[in-house]
Amino acid sequence: MNIAGLTIRAAAEGLAAKTFSSVELTQSVLDAIAARDGDLGAYLTVDAEGALAQASEADAARAAGREGPLLGVPVAIKDLINVRGQPCTCASKILEGYVSPYDATVAANLRAQGAVFAGRTNMDEFAMGSSTEHSAMKVTHNPHDLSCVPGGSSGGSAAAVAGGEAVAALGTDTGGSIRQPAAFCGCVGVKPSYGRVSRYGVTAYASSLDQVGPMTKTVEDAAILLQVLAGEDPHDGTTQRLPVPDYRVALAGGLQGMKIGLPKEYYIDGTDPEVMAAVRRAVDACAAAGAEIVDVSLPHTEYAIAVYYIVATAEASANLARFDGVRFGHRAKEPQNVFDLYARSRAEGFGTEVKRRIILGTYVLSSGYYDAYYGRAQKVRTLIRRDFDDAFQKCDVLLTPVAPTPAYKIGEASEDPLKMYLGDVFTVPANLAGLCGVSLPCGKTAGGLPLAFQFLAAPFREETLFRAAAGYERLSTNEG
Ligand code: GLN
Repeated sequence: MNIAGLTIRAAAEGLAAKTFSSVELTQSVLDAIAARDGDLGAYLTVDAEGALAQASEADAARAAGREGPLLGVPVAIKDLINVRGQPCTCASKILEGYVSPYDATVAANLRAQGAVFAGRTNMDEFAMGSSTEHSAMKVTHNPHDLSCVPGGSSGGSAAAVAGGEAVAALGTDTGGSIRQPAAFCGCVGVKPSYGRVSRYGVTAYASSLDQVGPMTKTVEDAAILLQVLAGEDPHDGTTQRLPVPDYRVALAGGLQGMKIGLPKEYYIDGTDPEVMAAVRRAVDACAAAGAEIVDVSLPHTEYAIAVYYIVATAEASANLARFDGVRFGHRAKEPQNVFDLYARSRAEGFGTEVKRRIILGTYVLSSGYYDAYYGRAQKVRTLIRRDFDDAFQKCDVLLTPVAPTPAYKIGEASEDPLKMYLGDVFTVPANLAGLCGVSLPCGKTAGGLPLAFQFLAAPFREETLFRAAAGYERLSTNEG
């Protein structure tokens, strides 16, 4: 069976109709990984035996009368989400050999639905990066052009979905890490509102920004997956006590009558012309389908990158303090004393980008600099959030580019941290404001690389997001 174009929905239908079993489906995913992953490098580890055992359990459950949209469907998991009994390295040497003793809530939710864990996908170390080149384990290649990056930090998940090695995958988005790799690889990526999905068991990068979300081939698949991920969790006090609407119902609404805002700060010089042209075509298509296009302004956008790289690194420096060589992970040999143990375990275990961020984050939090950097960044974060509150008075969703460029060559940006950070200009504001967003494919460059745009909606307006996204997707597939 070829799983390249296979959606969650088609998989569920095939399983329900007994066209194939979950064991056959899972074996096809494993075969695809075996055949292609040498070129793509999307996966870090695959537990074939465990996946097949889960698949045969799902088949038995179905034979006994159980049903469900994810029952027996394999899903790939970014390697920072804990799954009991599986490695969880965060693509870092410091966690090499670590085996999770428990399930993250999102993993437990998938398990409860009878989903199969297809494998652990590559990422930038601790999700710090935009190209997956900061993985300490391996390079992941873009399935559309193997000489290009897949984006990041959830580059392995995006490459697996787009490259025919997964039905669907989970990623995380702290500052764009679902939406940007989805854009670079040509799949659908949803960043849920902050507090919509539990972070329990998801290795923390920046706790006030991180969210888990689906990376899929269609908008409907993203709705199916988010349905299972979303909801209040007693283990994560930041999850909101709000009902989870039926996201698939929202798919039918259509663009007719929706108000789409174009923030002028996102339509600026410096963005690649092919990206801009594709985004403009998407705007025109929405207008032709009956959406009303309105101009809006988000005046504090220019500060978003600076605010993000202060807040995210500050939180990272605190979160990563737990990796000290004592309780788990890499431990330096023959330490002289406890300080030497900490210092050398961390020096040996963390990669350059992670160290850079820990140092930066420690600096902005240190006494004497706290007010000037961290304190001020928090204030500007509030202003950025208010910009969005105002904009959403005038429109239902915003439509913007996801990244200023399509996928670039491996090696092109990895030596210049600032260049890489600036690529996050259109994605980080949504995280700072707690919004939900979706990255959608909208054509290809002349060279055959995917192009994309994003819709953003106010916090907990995922239905609005899905309505717009599904409405656009129908237009683009009708166009052929
Ligand atoms: N590229 C951004 C960073 O490096 C976002 C990463 C993410 O969303 N995990 O921090």
